[in-house]
Amino acid sequence: MEKFYCRICGYRLGFEPWGDDGKTPTYEICPCCGVEFGNEDCTIKSIKEYRESWIKSGCKWFEQSKCATTWSWENQQRHLPKKFR
Ligand SMILES: [Zn+2]
Repeated sequence: MEKFYCRICGYRLGFEPWGDDGKTPTYEICPCCGVEFGNEDCTIKSIKEYRESWIKSGCKWFEQSKCATTWSWENQQRHLPKKFR
């Protein structure tokens, strides 16, 4: 199930951002944190750096229209895949 979540922000996507094998990035953009799968989320280091700067900039949504009014980073971060925390 973790395969459906963004490695940076824990957003539940409607697809597997790194494919079924976890090694085939789709190069789609996360509507929440704006990461390009296969780019800034390639390594643990780049994941943490991207996440940190995203949080520092106020957790801005890439596609604001998809952001639910009840959304909070505190809730969503519980869905971060464990090995990418
Ligand atoms: Zn994301």
